[in-house]
Amino acid sequence: MSLRLRLTLWNTLLLAFILSLFGVLVWGVLEFTLTRQIDETLDRTVDQLVKTSDASLNPQNSELLVELPFDAIESPGLYMQLFNLDGALIGNSMTIANLDRPLDPTGLRLSGLEREFRYVTLLGNRLRVLTTPVVVNSAHIGYLQVASSLKMVDAAQNAVLILMLGGGALAIIVSMAISSLTVKRALRPLETVTQTALQITRADDLSMRIDHQGNYSDEIGRLVTSFNDVLGRLERLFYSQKRFLTDISHELRTPLTAIRGNVDLLRRIGEGDPESLDAIQSETERLTRLAGDLLTLAEAETGSLPMAFQKVELDTLLLAVYRDARILAGTKVTVKLGEEDQALVWGDPDRIKQVLINLISNAIKYTPHGGTVTLGLKNMNDWGRVTVTDTGDGIPIEEIPHIFDRFYRVDKSRTRRSRAGGSGLGLSIVKWLVEAHDGRIDVTSQPNTGSTFTVWLPIMSAEQTHQGNVVEKRSIRLPLEPTPAEA
Ligand code: ADP
Repeated sequence: MSLRLRLTLWNTLLLAFILSLFGVLVWGVLEFTLTRQIDETLDRTVDQLVKTSDASLNPQNSELLVELPFDAIESPGLYMQLFNLDGALIGNSMTIANLDRPLDPTGLRLSGLEREFRYVTLLGNRLRVLTTPVVVNSAHIGYLQVASSLKMVDAAQNAVLILMLGGGALAIIVSMAISSLTVKRALRPLETVTQTALQITRADDLSMRIDHQGNYSDEIGRLVTSFNDVLGRLERLFYSQKRFLTDISHELRTPLTAIRGNVDLLRRIGEGDPESLDAIQSETERLTRLAGDLLTLAEAETGSLPMAFQKVELDTLLLAVYRDARILAGTKVTVKLGEEDQALVWGDPDRIKQVLINLISNAIKYTPHGGTVTLGLKNMNDWGRVTVTDTGDGIPIEEIPHIFDRFYRVDKSRTRRSRAGGSGLGLSIVKWLVEAHDGRIDVTSQPNTGSTFTVWLPIMSAEQTHQGNVVEKRSIRLPLEPTPAEA
């Protein structure tokens, strides 16, 4: 249930509760006041009756001889009855001339020398009945019951009930509508906060801030300020970490180049143990590639990886890569050129080359001595399809979905044993670079038979082809992704 609905319901429930309480109170007060008025009227009627009565006891048979002037005060809705001490009915007012039983038998029983007020329902009518002893010359000679109809009270109470129910229902509906609107208005800034937070997540852009139109000192304003502060802090941390990574990768390149130069020099002058030199060289190559990958990653994550998009003849580029690949492969594996169509794509030649070199060095790395790595290019109308096929270790089928994840490596013991250990970064960067070219990459592989990595790049449209030799500069941002715990 949404917060808006919950707040609206709570408000409405509270109002309904207050209205009910108020209704019960009004009802009670009405009952109490009107009844008191009726009681006073009954009291006065009795006093008047007794005052103007003429009552006595027959000295011979102790029979009650009483003359009550019922007629004088008779009025509709007023009922009077006279009883002797035994409770036998002696006289009725005209309004109940045919009634041959007491208006309130219980009251008659209860009343001693006290006046007794009671509610009674007679023939479907609610009555207020006063039972009072008749005392003449200090002698208790009988009882008098005077009753008034409660029709007026009931009518007043019904009117109040209808008013309260109708008015209450209306008030609840109006309050619900108003409260829903007010809550919506009050919560609107929160909605903006949520939308901005979502945008920040979707765009991976920590530089965005929530723009709050309202007051900064209220609850929402303070929330926005704190959220923006947290974002600022995160942004600073994130960028300082990336800057650190970029600086380190840059700094590592110079000493690594120096080590490589010195190894070459030692080889040329015939100094040093060739096996140790091989080991130093292979480890240096590995570190150089790692530093390069880290640099690309750091630049890409901060959105500062520059790319120069232009017309690229894939066939020419593939030939250049083929030449480099043969040097990379040395005597370990044979590099062959398979199908070679012509294809024009829109992209950054250096980055496409980086993609292919990465795939080829993996193919060489994971193919045993004597194996073959074949490069191919086919023009498939809308797509230029580049394939790198090897006859190497292959990749277990369950690992394939993960090999493009950052820092993911298959079977670390295998790679370590073959001194082919990598960082697990290469393929994630390859995939990202291919996607930055609106292309895609897939792989088919069979363990111990070999793998084929296929890169699809969109062929240039006729419109782009006519643009001539334009260079389009772009800074590409890498989507932030969580790094798997297992590196
Ligand atoms: P690494 O630096 O470990 O090579 P990559 O991201 O380039 O990292 O590759 C991820 C994993 O994919 C590697 O650990 C390797 O096991 C597997 N892999 C990549 N290319 C091949 C290939 N041509 N043949 C077999 N396995 C491969």
